Amino acid sequence: MRILLLFFVLIFTTFNTVFSQTPAKPKLVVGIVVDQMRYDFLYRYESKYVSGGFKRLLGEGFSCENTHYNYAPTYTGPGHAAIYTGATPSVSGIIGNEWWDPEWRKHRYVTTDERYKTVGSTSDKGQHSPSVLLSTTITDELRLSNNFQSKVASVCLKDRGSILPAGHIPNAAYWFDDPTGNWITSTYYPDSVGLPKWVQDFNARRLPDTLLSKNWDKIVSGPYHESFADWDKYNDGDYARYFIGKKMPYDLPDLKKTGGYSLLRFTPFGSTYTLDFAMEAVNRMQLGADEVPDFLCISFSGPDYCGHQFGIHAEETEDTYLRLDRDIARFLEFLDKKFGKNNVLVFLTADHGGAETPVHLNDLRIPAGVFPESQTEEILEKAIAAALGIPGNFIHEVGNQQVWLNWDAMADLDVKPEDVASVIIDYLRAQPGVYDAFTREELMMFPPEYPFAPELRRGIHPRRSGDIIFQLDPAWHADDKGFSKGGTTHGSPYPYDTHVPLIWYGWKVKTGETFAPVSITDIAPTLAAMLRIMEPNGNQGNVIQEIMVGN
Ligand SMILES: [Zn+2]
Repeated sequence: MRILLLFFVLIFTTFNTVFSQTPAKPKLVVGIVVDQMRYDFLYRYESKYVSGGFKRLLGEGFSCENTHYNYAPTYTGPGHAAIYTGATPSVSGIIGNEWWDPEWRKHRYVTTDERYKTVGSTSDKGQHSPSVLLSTTITDELRLSNNFQSKVASVCLKDRGSILPAGHIPNAAYWFDDPTGNWITSTYYPDSVGLPKWVQDFNARRLPDTLLSKNWDKIVSGPYHESFADWDKYNDGDYARYFIGKKMPYDLPDLKKTGGYSLLRFTPFGSTYTLDFAMEAVNRMQLGADEVPDFLCISFSGPDYCGHQFGIHAEETEDTYLRLDRDIARFLEFLDKKFGKNNVLVFLTADHGGAETPVHLNDLRIPAGVFPESQTEEILEKAIAAALGIPGNFIHEVGNQQVWLNWDAMADLDVKPEDVASVIIDYLRAQPGVYDAFTREELMMFPPEYPFAPELRRGIHPRRSGDIIFQLDPAWHADDKGFSKGGTTHGSPYPYDTHVPLIWYGWKVKTGETFAPVSITDIAPTLAAMLRIMEPNGNQGNVIQEIMVGN
């Protein structure tokens, strides 16, 4: 009897040591960003999700159900930067996806850096770097914390979704090259003298050809009751015109004749391709292979392209999430087999949400609209010339609901900036859908009670942002070029753009949920606290203590 008892004690102790003991550090940290994933998508399609995907993360992990972006503009570049730096655009310097750059004295795309060349293609798609990002990232801090023993790799179809999370000193960051369908990088990254053999081998498999060789039909048969069946008149964003007038099932080989490999971005198979490559990176870069924590950043861009093109009530969008759910299940299983749940720390969030389609809301008699931002610069120049009696080029750019003034032109023509600003503000305030317009200086003086003053201030960088800012009413957006007739976009400080999922899973993470307010900037300092390393140097967030075991 005593021997039997001893046997059981031994078995139990061994079991405990092998399977239950939480190690001091995770082998691998995985950040998953789902581009444009609204909070409600966790639950809207729940009945069609499998048990191993989003439902598993929610059931076995800890969900911060009330996580919001605490700034505007809510775009992809600023979002990825905020997640990984804990800093809002006011400090990270990532004030948009593109803007008039007073330092460059021209329009810029966020990560463009012509000092560097493409690695892996003859295209110019690799001429990027993270040099625009003014804060370190949590991935930078992990590398700095242990003499670069931790490895960092980042994967995303979008360049900015890969580059900004990876920070300034990663081992690798890869993104999609539309002309070839291959994964590429930039000479910025020192390891990238040429594409590593494993990336070349992966590219040689030509998966985009396979993924685009079939039809895109619903993964679950029968009607998608969670989406709108009569959505045809609202689903034609002007993003990928080759979808216009067509519906599911899509003949992808036929669409590819017009869209080329870019078509992959708009289908759910872009996420499958991203995940396949990310798992290959884990295997071939030996991420998580030793006791020093490594960091893998994955960002799924497909849901954003799809959401823009078809809108948030489209069956295409639902199908995209159903397929992503299955991809996430596949990934969690991969992590189980390779590392075990206790050895990986995973978080899943989004870089912003997405709005209702304004014309649809109008048909339902809900106030909404599209502000014609693309036409505003020309109109304003005429208004200024008429009001001041001096024709000139007083505006560099109107974008992201900001106006960049041409200070040189005003000085040359001896025109007072406040006179120009006053014409612009008067015009904007008189337009439908404009809530208010003000100078940057005025915004800084508003009391915090002024609606969205703190959020707008956190979106302003003193050296980079526009001189005049305007704010639209709820359900209005300013992308008249792309989404005035159908589809949708994002960018506002309203909840549909700010409320995103945040789920923690794995190493030292409790099971549970909280509805306490959490800011997107809290992710990076929470990771820093759990890993016992410094938070990013621009961090403005707080540690979310309640997700951790023992708290
Ligand atoms: Zn985005």
